[in-house]
Amino acid sequence: MIARRAARRGALAQADATAHPGAMITTSIDAGEERYLRRAVELARLAREAGDRPYGAVLVGEDGRVLAEGRNATVSDGDPTSHAELNAVRAARPAPPGLTGATMYASGEPCAMCSAAMAWAGVTRVVFGASIPAIRAVDPSPGLTLRCADVMAAAPYPVEVIGPVLEEECLAVFTS
Ligand SMILES: [Zn+2]
Repeated sequence: MIARRAARRGALAQADATAHPGAMITTSIDAGEERYLRRAVELARLAREAGDRPYGAVLVGEDGRVLAEGRNATVSDGDPTSHAELNAVRAARPAPPGLTGATMYASGEPCAMCSAAMAWAGVTRVVFGASIPAIRAVDPSPGLTLRCADVMAAAPYPVEVIGPVLEEECLAVFTS
């Protein structure tokens, strides 16, 4: 555990030396967590099949219970803000004090809007699959380029940002 924490600090230093001390970027998760991320990828595929953008998200409580799921529905809903992570936060309907201890697993790195929504809701950890630069490399659709960790660095409490994880698997939904 000590080594893992040290590695996280190292990753943070390389990623952005100015980031909030709590906004850490790492690239690995426990094997047991991968199933949540793979479920997010399934939701991304469902979104694509429905004609929406291929993004999915799973919100998991500190006890490992799935609190909510979300997928992109910008076309289906006729709402440009109907993003996977935002929809998952809304579906969870967190009462104060919010989602402290919860982790958001997102197939793609959350955009600035969704990152801010998670910060408002108190989400403590974010695990994302494909990074924004990697997604833009295979899908040049216009979008916000601000990174999740940079938004979370401005959160009023420490947020751990983990990713990219299983990136090839998460990118495949954009290309296959
Ligand atoms: Zn978003």
